[in-house]
Amino acid sequence: MQYLPNILFVIALVLGIGFFAKNVKRLSRNIKLGRDVDVSDNKPQRWKNMAKIALGQTKMVVRPIAGFLHIIVYVGFVIINIEVLEIILDGILGTHRVFAPLGALYDFLIASFEVLAFLVIVAVVIFWLRRNVIKLQRFLKPEMKGWPKKDGNLILYIELVLMFLFLTMNAADYQLQQLNVAHYTKAGMFPVSQFIAPLFEGLSTSTLILIERTAWWLHILGILAFLNYLYYSKHLHILLAFPNTYYGSLRPQGQFDNLESVTNEVKLMMDPDADPFAAPVEDDAGEPEKFGASDVSDLNWVQLLNAYTCTECGRCTSECPANQTGKKLSPRKIMMDTRDRLEEVGKNIDANKGKFTDDGKQLLNDYITPEELWACTSCNACVEACPVSIDPLSIIMDMRRYLVMEQSAAPTDLNNMMGNIENNGAPWPFNQMDRLNWVEEN
Ligand code: SF4
Ligand code: SF4
Repeated sequence: MQYLPNILFVIALVLGIGFFAKNVKRLSRNIKLGRDVDVSDNKPQRWKNMAKIALGQTKMVVRPIAGFLHIIVYVGFVIINIEVLEIILDGILGTHRVFAPLGALYDFLIASFEVLAFLVIVAVVIFWLRRNVIKLQRFLKPEMKGWPKKDGNLILYIELVLMFLFLTMNAADYQLQQLNVAHYTKAGMFPVSQFIAPLFEGLSTSTLILIERTAWWLHILGILAFLNYLYYSKHLHILLAFPNTYYGSLRPQGQFDNLESVTNEVKLMMDPDADPFAAPVEDDAGEPEKFGASDVSDLNWVQLLNAYTCTECGRCTSECPANQTGKKLSPRKIMMDTRDRLEEVGKNIDANKGKFTDDGKQLLNDYITPEELWACTSCNACVEACPVSIDPLSIIMDMRRYLVMEQSAAPTDLNNMMGNIENNGAPWPFNQMDRLNWVEEN
C-alpha cells in the first residue's frame, strides 16, 4: 500500500505520455500526406529564423500589448517546466521537493515560478477580457464562432486553474513546513502563495496534507490533460511554432515558384531546334501531373505544417485588404479550413485501415470557395503579419492554379487578359504589331 501513490502516478504518466505520443504520430502522418518539398537549403539562416521568431518572439511584439502578455505566458510555460520535472521525480520516487538540496538556488527558483504564475494569471485575465468583454474585431470574424471561440477561452481557463493549483499547493506546503510536519522539508520561498497561506491557518495537519496532495495531484493530472488537449486545439502552436519557423520560406516575398512541366514546355516553345512532333516526355510516375491544388494532398507538407501551426490570432486577417474591404476572404480561415480538411482526411484514413477512401469532398468548394480565392490581391500582408511564419498566400495561389490550369475557371476578365497575353503578347486586346502605337501619340 505504501507504494500505491507511486504506482498510480507512473500509470497516469505512462497513459498521458502514451496518448500524446499516439497523437504526435497521427499528426506527423497527416503532415506527410502533403507533397514533398526541398527545404534543406541555407540551414544557418533557418536556425536564425527559428531562434529569432519562435524563441525570441520578435514578430509577436509588433503589437506590443498582446506581444508583452504573450511573452509572460510563454516564459511562464517554459520555466515552470522545471517545476514539473520536480513533480514528476517526486511522483515516481515518492520524495517531496527532491531539488530542495539546491538550497538558495532552489528558493530562488520556487520564488520565480510563483511570480511568473502570478503574472500568467494577470495576463490570462487580460487576454480573456480582450476576447470576451472588449471584443476585439479580429476575434469576432465569422470563422471564430463555435469551437474556435470555445477553444480560445478553454485554454485560458485551464491555464488559470493550473496556476491557482500550483499556488494552493505551495500555500498548504508552506503551512505544513511551519508546523514541522514530517516529509514536508523546509525549502522554497513563497512570495505569492504566502498571501494564500493565511486562509489555511488553524486547519489540522491531516486537512492541510489533504489540500496539498489534492492540489499536487490535480496540478500534474491537469498538465498531462493539457498536453493531450494540444492536438485538438490551436495551442498546438506551442510545439509547432519551432519547426514551422525553421521551415518557413526563405524566398523574397512575392516570388512564386514555377511549375517545372510548364517551364519545360515554354523552353521547348522557345527552342528553334525542338521537334514540334516529338512525343511528350512521360514523368517518372507515368501519371499525368495535376496542376495546382484542389485538396490537401496536393499541397506540400510545409503548407500542411503551416495549417496545424496556425494560432488563429487573426493578425493576417486584420491586415488583409480584401477582408478590410468586406470581401469574403480571410487568410486565417484559409489556414483553419486546411487544417479541418486535413483532420477529416486523417480520420478517414484511420477509419479505413490506413487507406483514404473517397468521401466525395475536397478542400476546394467544400471548405474554400473560388470567391474567396479570387478576392486575394496577392499583396503578402498576411505573410508579413503572421507571427509564426505561415504563408496563407501560397495555398491561395496553388488553389487558383488548379482553377485556371485544370478547370479553366478563372473570372472572365482574367481569362480575357490571359488570352490576350497568349495571343498578343500583352494584356490588351490589340494586335502585336500595334502594341507600340502609343509611342507615336501626342
Ligand atoms: S495576400 Fe491575399 S490573403 Fe494575404 S493579405 Fe493580401 S489579399 Fe489578403
Ligand atoms: S496564419 Fe498566422 S497570423 Fe494568421 S491567424 Fe494563423 S497564426 Fe495568426
